[in-house]
Amino acid sequence: MVLYDVVILGGGPAGLTTAIYTCRAGWKTLLVEMGAPGGQAATTEIIENYPGFPEGVSGPELMLKFYSQAARFGCEFMTAQVTGLTVEGGIKTVTTTQGDVEGKTIIVATGAQPRELGVEGERKFRGRGVSYCATCDGFFFRQKKVAVIGGGDAAVEEAIYLSKLAQEVTIIHRRDAFRAAKVLGDRALQVPNIKVIWDAVVDEIRGDSQVKTLKLHNVKTQESREVQVDGVFIYVGTQPNTDCLPAVIERNPQGYIITNEALETRVPGVFAVGDCRFKGSRQVATAVGDGALVLPAVEKYLNSL
Ligand SMILES: Cc1cc2nc3c(=O)[nH]c(=O)nc-3n(C[C@H](O)[C@H](O)[C@H](O)COP(=O)(O)OP(=O)(O)OC[C@H]3O[C@@H](n4cnc5c(N)ncnc54)[C@H](O)[C@@H]3O)c2cc1C
Repeated sequence: MVLYDVVILGGGPAGLTTAIYTCRAGWKTLLVEMGAPGGQAATTEIIENYPGFPEGVSGPELMLKFYSQAARFGCEFMTAQVTGLTVEGGIKTVTTTQGDVEGKTIIVATGAQPRELGVEGERKFRGRGVSYCATCDGFFFRQKKVAVIGGGDAAVEEAIYLSKLAQEVTIIHRRDAFRAAKVLGDRALQVPNIKVIWDAVVDEIRGDSQVKTLKLHNVKTQESREVQVDGVFIYVGTQPNTDCLPAVIERNPQGYIITNEALETRVPGVFAVGDCRFKGSRQVATAVGDGALVLPAVEKYLNSL
């Protein structure tokens, strides 16, 4: 079996940036990704806050550039799902759906995935009107009525995107103001076919073969109402993809990996970068920052072997 200097788990912005840095520094690197490279960033129509693109850049286009750059420096890619990790001893073994791989160091870059709303009908209508990705599924709702649940950056951004396709977009937010950046919130409020239902939470997603209505209640007045929609896009935060890791890799109660400033976990030779780790900001720029930041500690560890 080939022994890699670095095995990166996950090919979003954090994993791909790590690969650019470790490969360019001459370390034999394998990146294991279960889907197409690019992670969450590849699921958004436009990224406006990543430096270097004054007009914004499409998520898939930016991620293709990250991937090409990692490949140019010699990164090897494996398409497989990581199912386990054994960290006892100097050499770490990654278990995947395509067999085991071995590395001297492991970089966990498995990111996060959308959090479920947790209401009745959500799972039943997943793929039949319930979606977590406007870029993937927005097309199916051309000239239809959709709701976006949430009030953070992702919810507001994706509502603006959907407003170009759908007849009407209703943002349903449990507070009386957006959590999103002010510039985004203000922009959404200017869009004629976006309306907002404030102070409301969804109790149930209803339909027959497809979503038909949402049952809501106002958190201040407790009044219930039902709104008609053809689709519902849920953006209520994310949860880390860290279930495949052994307990010895310390996580906070929500499952985010705890690291020090050098991005080392408690296990020597195992590092974490990007959205899967416990930190204050989860963005493409901070994921990229982690990918660059981790290199010195990785090199120090490898040079000590
Ligand atoms: C709709 C939306 C819009 C956004 N808009 C912006 C924006 O405008 N600007 C901005 O800066 N950020 C934005 N973000 C956030 C940004 O996309 C994330 O912060 C960034 O992608 C995190 O990168 P990451 O590499 O840490 O993780 P991720 O992007 O989550 O990538 C993790 C990768 O790991 C893979 N993976 C997970 N588990 C396994 C496993 N067991 N085995 C193998 N592979 C695995 C996943 O398939 C994925 O490709 C947005 C996010 C969303 C969802």
